[in-house]
Amino acid sequence: MRDYINNQHRYYSLDYYLKKRFKTKVFKVALNGNFTCPNRDGTISNKGCIFCSPAGSGDFAGNRHDSLAKQFNEVKTIIHHKWPNASYIVYFQANTNTYAPLEKLKKIYEEAISLDQNIVAISIATRPDCLSKEIVEYLGELNQRLPVWVELGLQTIDEQVATFINRGYQLDVFTEAVTNLHQQGIEVIVHIINGLPNETKEMMLNTIRFLNSQKIQGIKIHSLFILKQTILGNIFEQNPFKLLTLTEYVDIVCEQLTLLREDIVIHRLNGDAPQELLIEPRWSLKKLVVMNEIDKEMKRRNYFQGCKVSID
Ligand code: SF4
Repeated sequence: MRDYINNQHRYYSLDYYLKKRFKTKVFKVALNGNFTCPNRDGTISNKGCIFCSPAGSGDFAGNRHDSLAKQFNEVKTIIHHKWPNASYIVYFQANTNTYAPLEKLKKIYEEAISLDQNIVAISIATRPDCLSKEIVEYLGELNQRLPVWVELGLQTIDEQVATFINRGYQLDVFTEAVTNLHQQGIEVIVHIINGLPNETKEMMLNTIRFLNSQKIQGIKIHSLFILKQTILGNIFEQNPFKLLTLTEYVDIVCEQLTLLREDIVIHRLNGDAPQELLIEPRWSLKKLVVMNEIDKEMKRRNYFQGCKVSID
């Protein structure tokens, strides 16, 4: 059994990984680099992924009109008060954070990692179709100086569901990007969503089985959020469809964890939806409750991350 199993979690939590790797308390600071997204600006589509919020799924990143320094220092001031020796990961969250010419990306990333001497890594959320050879090579160089993480929004491996949500790329684009990033030694964190329309539990488990075959190092799982001011929100309000209950979500996550390679770090098991925009599921707002229910159920079933990988 892995050393990360403890009384609280039966999976490889990000908290455990960060403490082990950086030997200090580490906070992620979400910055807004004022990027756009090719799935919203008309290059691929002008609709965006149908669940995506007006802020480009970066609702807790800083204000895009503020300098990176201002955004960073606002967060640091709050953290520093309690954790004077904390370290930081600068996290480009909103929209597609490699969707710009290479020179512009270099300028933004270099500025971000220079904001504070306690910045220990940079995390960049993007689409797999926005990782050209030259960008991946540059990220590889940057990764020699400090850890670079790339976060990819996959959501599902089912092509029909991916088309329905207007993801705008096919699965082979994802696998190619993961291979290229891995060749540069870059850690890849994959985002998936449970409860997408027309997805069965078995389909959600299949996404995990597929990810085990990929050279990825981390995963974020969250439930589908129905937000106001989104295409999905409009569909739902006109024709409400069945969403996962908390019990169903907890069941699926527990089963997914048992099927997931034990070396993959769990960055999240529940997302953050902006309260004022969230239509459903309202249970997702009680993040602690969701996390506790997952921990309780893992224990009750005597499950551990990866415990069913070999027999699957
Ligand atoms: S790729 Fe990301 S930012 Fe772009 S529409 Fe989809 S979820 Fe939103």
